[in-house]
Amino acid sequence: MSAEAHRYAVFGQPIAHSLSPQIHTAFAEQLGIRLGYETIDVAPSGFADAVRRFFDDGGLGANVTLPHKEAAFALAQQHTEDASRVGAANTLTALVGGLVQAHNTDGSGFVRDITERHALDLRGHDALLLGAGGAAKAVAWALLDAGVKTLTIVNRTPERADALADAIGEPARCHTRYWDGLDGECFDLVVNATSIGVTGGSFDLPMSILQDHGTCYDLCYGTASASFKGWATAAGTHYFCDGLGMLVEQAADAFERWHGQRPDTDPVYDLLRQRF
Ligand code: NAP
Repeated sequence: MSAEAHRYAVFGQPIAHSLSPQIHTAFAEQLGIRLGYETIDVAPSGFADAVRRFFDDGGLGANVTLPHKEAAFALAQQHTEDASRVGAANTLTALVGGLVQAHNTDGSGFVRDITERHALDLRGHDALLLGAGGAAKAVAWALLDAGVKTLTIVNRTPERADALADAIGEPARCHTRYWDGLDGECFDLVVNATSIGVTGGSFDLPMSILQDHGTCYDLCYGTASASFKGWATAAGTHYFCDGLGMLVEQAADAFERWHGQRPDTDPVYDLLRQRF
């Protein structure tokens, strides 16, 4: 089969910065799979048509990033549970009969990175999640599935945190607080799923909320993780992880879905780590 027959892509806007082509190409080389992986820069108004053209022209799978994850979920005819819980998709797969399946690998990628690469057993933790956007939704469900004892969600727009906790529907384990109402609370895991590191803003959170030996995880990586890392360091974090490993793991989950083989993510992570 020609390389063109194995056609994959990532859709977004902007998309030129995306590491997905490099990651998927490296996975494919590792496993001896021939594929073409392109970036497709498209505005929200043209997204659904561009995806339809891609699959009509023989595309087999697509990754989707901002700002299209909810639109990707909406255009698919079949939805996995991971996508349905979040209401957004980062992985689209061609099915027989021209149908498209929507899936979301953000939550599984996050858990795999934190538990396998960073060797943190999530069971029994009191976790604080900052943010209630698309990535935060995926991470919230994944943290609960992985066995955290409690999950507290705070968000700049509190209604979005409340909506997420309501959708989860486990009030004994998962609840919300106001961003400025955390005094007196204590967590041993703080996960930043806001875009503050990218868009700007500050982590005006009391240092006392991080328990001794607490872990901090930032979904951002590279220079975008500097601001949360600054807060975490000042709060005395025992261990800090950024989101580079999550990026590689969520890509591996999509890759495995499409190709039926799981790549070894460590060499790709190590390569990217030299740059970020
Ligand atoms: P999103 O849906 O746009 O959500 C953004 C979140 O950040 C919302 O909760 C928003 O609060 C909050 N926020 C933005 N500016 C803020 C500010 N100045 N102060 C306080 N909160 C602020 O984005 P997303 O898709 O969830 O992505 C969130 C971050 O995760 C991004 O930086 C993205 O790059 C990263 N991410 C990383 C990976 C990975 O593989 N490592 C995967 C997915 C996402 P409001 O609700 O109040 O607007």
